[in-house]
Amino acid sequence: MAKLYFRYGAMGCGKTRDIIKVWYNYKEKGKKAIIIKPGIDTKGNNKIVSRDNTELNTDYVILKDDNIYDIITKHIRKYNLDCILVDEAQFLERHHVEELTDICDDLNITVMCYGLRADFMDNLFPGSAALFAYADVIEEMKTICECMDGATRNVRFVNGKPVFHGEQVAIDGKDQVTYISMCRKCRKKLLKEHNKSIEKKTTNKEKFKKALIDALR
Ligand SMILES: [Zn+2]
Repeated sequence: MAKLYFRYGAMGCGKTRDIIKVWYNYKEKGKKAIIIKPGIDTKGNNKIVSRDNTELNTDYVILKDDNIYDIITKHIRKYNLDCILVDEAQFLERHHVEELTDICDDLNITVMCYGLRADFMDNLFPGSAALFAYADVIEEMKTICECMDGATRNVRFVNGKPVFHGEQVAIDGKDQVTYISMCRKCRKKLLKEHNKSIEKKTTNKEKFKKALIDALR
């Protein structure tokens, strides 16, 4: 029986590299795997690009209202299919994940989803939440923090400064946004320092305001 996999990990843990590896493994055995990804990820357009710059073309970009089951059944009518690899699976909608379970159960096709567990504010992505609920096999892919502990968080930086609030989705490399994967402890430390610097800025502002009011009296 085919299974639905969810392989999750922080940024830089090698998810895309793994997809490319699995794709080639299928090819070498004369089997057919395809790569799909949600349309929200604009990085590399219709390509998936790993950090070492290896790239493969995406077979389908899935949009919000697309029905993956319908797309795949149409695909199978034309070509064979043994495995579906899903990049950036955190951006899937819940209904997409439900459709992927039908592909597994009704069509007997292995589905391997790769994605982030949580966003930079430590909230689950909708696609990841659905995958945690539905996947048969859940595997963590590891990467390390600067302190050498396992990195499980994605910290967002804008113009080199850490940010802890904002929109859930901001693509790496766009609008001065970058991410660094960290362990929970290092993220907490960074957040504390960030809050302290904001407090300091506010106190300085208050002091300036008070001095101004006093001077105008
Ligand atoms: Zn750390």
